[in-house]
Amino acid sequence: MSRFLRGDTDRSQRELDKEQSRREAAEREVERLTASLNAVPTGIVLADANGATVLRNRSAAVGGHSDVLVDEAVQRLLTAAIAGRSGEQRLELFGPPPRVLLIRAIPLNGAGAMAIVDDLSERARLDAVRTDFVANISHELKTPVGALAVLAEALADSDDAEVNRHLAEKMVEEAHRASRTIDDLLELSRIELGGRGEPETVSLAAVLGEVAARHRFTAETAGVRLDVAPTNGQTVTGDRLQLVSAISNLVDNAIKYTNPGGTVKVSSNISASWVEIEVSDDGVGIPARDLDRVFERFYRVDRARSRETGGTGLGLAIVRHVANNHGGEVSVRSREGEGSTFTLKIPTHEET
Ligand code: ADP
Repeated sequence: MSRFLRGDTDRSQRELDKEQSRREAAEREVERLTASLNAVPTGIVLADANGATVLRNRSAAVGGHSDVLVDEAVQRLLTAAIAGRSGEQRLELFGPPPRVLLIRAIPLNGAGAMAIVDDLSERARLDAVRTDFVANISHELKTPVGALAVLAEALADSDDAEVNRHLAEKMVEEAHRASRTIDDLLELSRIELGGRGEPETVSLAAVLGEVAARHRFTAETAGVRLDVAPTNGQTVTGDRLQLVSAISNLVDNAIKYTNPGGTVKVSSNISASWVEIEVSDDGVGIPARDLDRVFERFYRVDRARSRETGGTGLGLAIVRHVANNHGGEVSVRSREGEGSTFTLKIPTHEET
């Protein structure tokens, strides 16, 4: 082989090698890009100018039958974007689980198009909860405020001192009702927004002592015996005020839903990692069908009794929030006509 010919072959081999390593580098780059995009919670689909899918990250697939619907929407929007038209579509999937997606596609300056799939499910759920909550608050406050207006009108029209006194008493009652609902709403929102606050070592004896002091008089007035068992110097890591508020709500309910002559018992059990505070009563109890729902805001089993006893329907929602803030839980066992036991379970030490 001539020297020149061998030189040409060497050069073309070098170029082939270079081309090969350029291709490998480009493939590694695509792999790196795909791996990075797979870590992103937003779905991304890239298409070339002919509409062929070049890249699709993991979040672009929602899983199950819904993928067909998502793919259809992505392809339609990508085709339009390749032709130069950006667009978006909100997709509500009935699940399970139900999902709300926002799919957008944008042109990439003649180099194809990109579709972005955003999961709005959690935001949509929170919006629905907020709307419900506002509707509930409006309803809960409308009742006492409406009653106040009617009572005030009656008072303005009456000359009878005895009737006036009765109407004024009713007005005070309704004003207190509205004020209790507002207080509980503020408490709930403080606990929801503030998380757990600065954790401190809290003596259970001090918490239960404070709860007992708050409720001794109410229990006596209701003819209900309040028994608080001693605690053996147990401590928990948490927010003292929130713990007092949670156990107070449980004791308040136990007294409210127990007939005169009944007993409310507060006791605590400790293991290596948990403290369980039990509040039990031998009162009216809760029907099995309502047990799952009593922790919802404004849910009441017996509206009339809750109203009569000044309930706001927010007490157990507060207890559940306090439990969550402490990495614990609250549960209930009950039998209609026999009584209820609520258990607040809190880790003894701060979770890391
Ligand atoms: P409320 O202010 O109406 O008591 P809660 O959120 O504290 O609201 O409780 C929700 C509902 O759960 C109450 O309306 C009542 O029907 C039921 N409930 C709660 N605690 C008890 C209990 N110890 N015994 C019977 N029913 C209870």
